[in-house]
Amino acid sequence: MRELLRQLIRVQEIDERLARLRREAQDIPARKERARSRLAEREAAFARAEAACQQELAEIQRLEKEVEAARATAARLRQQQFEVKTNDAYRALLHEIDTLTAHIRQLEDAELERMENVERYQRALAATRRDLDSESATVERECAELDGRLATMDSELARAEAERTAAAGEVDPDWLRRYERIRDHVGTLALAPVDHGTCGGCHMRLPPQAVHDARRCEQIAVCAFCGRMLYSIEALA
Ligand SMILES: [Zn+2]
Repeated sequence: MRELLRQLIRVQEIDERLARLRREAQDIPARKERARSRLAEREAAFARAEAACQQELAEIQRLEKEVEAARATAARLRQQQFEVKTNDAYRALLHEIDTLTAHIRQLEDAELERMENVERYQRALAATRRDLDSESATVERECAELDGRLATMDSELARAEAERTAAAGEVDPDWLRRYERIRDHVGTLALAPVDHGTCGGCHMRLPPQAVHDARRCEQIAVCAFCGRMLYSIEALA
């Protein structure tokens, strides 16, 4: 039974390695996707900030035009001051000019404020752009590494599969089938070591008889709780 257990443990080790490799290979496209969408989100945020900055610039242009128009009106009103006939009309014009001048000052203040905003936006955008460029390079490198890993995994998988075929070929077919049935039922580990009187698979305390059987190796002991085949590391050493 010692030899059979050693053969089965060998098959199990290869099966675990195969499962690990397959999980890793399956996970690679999702990891690439996550990296790319992380970058896309940041790029979208950058585009939004850039659009906000452009809007601010457009608003400055609009304010400038408004200031120009108001100044032209004020100039025209000043011209009219020389042409009015009555004091009342003169005072009315004066009042209109004062109101317009105050309005122009307000517009200019608003324009200045927006110009300061634009400067702040542009500084922040330049810093964000630098971050984005380095993040983009990181993501590309990450994806290239993952592609490289996937390429080497093909040969690792093929090698492990060949090892599996060879190792399984040495095991008695009935025992191999039994091993596979338990493995498919409980997960990857069909064989578990006895660990301080407990099953190394489900960690339940084993009856002394099962521990004894595992040590003697005259028959295959089975965990009554999870159904795994048990072995004693000392007995196989
Ligand atoms: Zn168990």
